[in-house]
Amino acid sequence: MDPKLQKVAEVWERDTAIVEGVDISGPWNRMFGQRVIWDYTPDLIEEIAQLPGAESFAWCYQCGKCVPVCPVDVVGDYGPRKLYRRAQTGINLLDSPDLWLCTTCANCLRVCPKLVDMVQIMPAAREHAMLTGRAIPAELQEALENTAKYGNPLGQPARKREAWVKDAGVPVPILHQIQRPVEWLWWVECYPSYHPRGIDASIALARIFNALGLDFAILGREEKCAGDSQRLAGERGLFEMLAEENIRTLSKYEFQHIVVTDPHALNAFRKHYPKLGGQYDVWHYTTLLARELPKLQPLLTKSLPYRVTFHDPCYLGRHNGEYDAPRQLIQALPGVEFVEMLRCRENSYCCGGGGGGMWLDSFAAGHQRRRLSEERVLEAVSTGADTLVVCCPYEVSRFEDAAKSTGVEGRLRVRDIAELLAEAMGLIGEGAA
Ligand code: SF4
Ligand code: SF4
Repeated sequence: MDPKLQKVAEVWERDTAIVEGVDISGPWNRMFGQRVIWDYTPDLIEEIAQLPGAESFAWCYQCGKCVPVCPVDVVGDYGPRKLYRRAQTGINLLDSPDLWLCTTCANCLRVCPKLVDMVQIMPAAREHAMLTGRAIPAELQEALENTAKYGNPLGQPARKREAWVKDAGVPVPILHQIQRPVEWLWWVECYPSYHPRGIDASIALARIFNALGLDFAILGREEKCAGDSQRLAGERGLFEMLAEENIRTLSKYEFQHIVVTDPHALNAFRKHYPKLGGQYDVWHYTTLLARELPKLQPLLTKSLPYRVTFHDPCYLGRHNGEYDAPRQLIQALPGVEFVEMLRCRENSYCCGGGGGGMWLDSFAAGHQRRRLSEERVLEAVSTGADTLVVCCPYEVSRFEDAAKSTGVEGRLRVRDIAELLAEAMGLIGEGAA
């Protein structure tokens, strides 16, 4: 034990003490020595703060603004203030389950007067925990190993990445086959390539792109995970390996812009690929489609009798500032009634999938009263909405599972914006691609 901590525990007590006939022996007569702030050890705070990127961990002055906005605290006991305080009183973050619960949603950073930045602190601390041989949750380990081996966290073979294209019902050009320049390189990402509900959204988006006459192509089997969530989970080395391979692949082809399905890929391309030599003009598909609204609007001919609410993805909204494009698209849908949830836009709640949380679902559930995704679907239902609209590939499966586990499955459907647009265009049926 840290010698300074023993001083914190310094007490005086008499084994036997009877005062006016009352037995106050042992702890009942305990007196504590005078305590001052430096009785608490700064060592565990400094161990984190000396890691490159994690310096701001030491800047916390315990104002407490971060705790009420932390989505993990809503369902558990969390927030930067609490992590700092626990370190101060001898709990090592590196050995604590707390290390894996932060989703790097950035809502605490939004309100912190000292700019304590968990988006930087967590990856640095997690990387250090891995490098110093600490155990990491098994489900995360598996996703990281899958990514290293197959180029995607689902452990699917690379050649299957473009298999969904044959079910699209429209041309989806693949760059290694067409060998010509395109205007838009569509970065499909892992879940929209492999997960059945992700594929539904990919097919819907492919049909929309075709209807708009967009000059686009995908990389297919040559695409690998953009790697942002692996980086945030502490695997910077794996992220750099993926980024370097992806940059090499992209350098083989001519294109003007990248359009991504996944806000996590958007974040990687905008903020982290440039440091490794990959400079691109990158758009989220909602931003592109909102720009195309003059062309898109006349094609939205079918009225959809839905009452919908929208979940802002942390990595599209807070991290990359896009709140309006998804809303413009939803409001363009004929017949749709749009209601906001209480926590929306800058203060949006988190689905729990960011920062590696996508691969820590069971682990997180074991340390919280309920999953973040469960909290969010209940909030969506409370608005009276029958449809929860999303635009991040992590969210369809997370929220559908949460709707089942909270028993609201029959009252709330989860749809990607692309699916609703394609339905209003008559390109897909209700609830299916
Ligand atoms: S808002 Fe910032 S300074 Fe205040 S308690 Fe939270 S981390 Fe510390
Ligand atoms: S980044 Fe989000 S989940 Fe992590 S501590 Fe801050 S508010 Fe909580």
